[in-house]
Amino acid sequence: MIEILSPVELERAQDAGALVGRILQTVRDRCRVGTNLLEIDRWTKELIDDAGAVSCYVDYAPSFGSGPFGHYICTSVNDAVLHGLPRDYALADGDLLTLDLAVSLHRIVADSAVSFVVGQDAHPEDLAMIDATERALAAGIAAARPGAKVGDLSHAIGAVLTDAGYSVNTQFGGHGVGSTMHQDPHIANAGRPGRGYTLRPGLLLAIEPWVMADTDELVTDADGWTLRSATGARTAHSEHTVAITDDGARILTLRP
Ligand code: MG
Ligand code: MG
Repeated sequence: MIEILSPVELERAQDAGALVGRILQTVRDRCRVGTNLLEIDRWTKELIDDAGAVSCYVDYAPSFGSGPFGHYICTSVNDAVLHGLPRDYALADGDLLTLDLAVSLHRIVADSAVSFVVGQDAHPEDLAMIDATERALAAGIAAARPGAKVGDLSHAIGAVLTDAGYSVNTQFGGHGVGSTMHQDPHIANAGRPGRGYTLRPGLLLAIEPWVMADTDELVTDADGWTLRSATGARTAHSEHTVAITDDGARILTLRP
């Protein structure tokens, strides 16, 4: 299903996006060496509840997970890259943490993810990997305008990741957003330009490049949710929800 939002729904989407950006920034600012992933989950629940929003994750039970997820945010550390199930783990100096959050506010969903290094002991290669996903996200957003094809976004994202030396997994990627979290079109993080669905004003897209340092192969953790690099290599992930407008893509999930 592909939803095209009305102007009123787009205004609600702005509010949902702003809330997701604000929660991610708040939680990120609170993360310290020693912060427990379950604490992050608790903070997120409180912030969602305070805003009168609804978690897209807590009851989420897709075919690929051993659902329901039962938590409010994805916390993926080091070799974990997607769907990181919060667990009893205290962050260490130099850990590479990805926070991924989707909430529904007034029945419109926004979805965003950010990777960062906790503490002072950042590996330069981790910072380079985060930077590559952020540049790929910017390239995908720049390519997202009315009349563009989904393949144009995939190509723009994949070119940045490939040029930076990463191999790209196309199994999980970006997606349409609207009244539910995951909708068509799927936006693979590599692909050929000129192919696929044509973008129209009113479309909401979650664009989300992610990479693993030396592989494109994933393994599922024993928790049934967390996806890790098959080699144990570290990983990064950047995501924004954007609205396609007559003037191009507007980022809804900017962090304050
Ligand atoms: Mg997400
Ligand atoms: Mg997403």
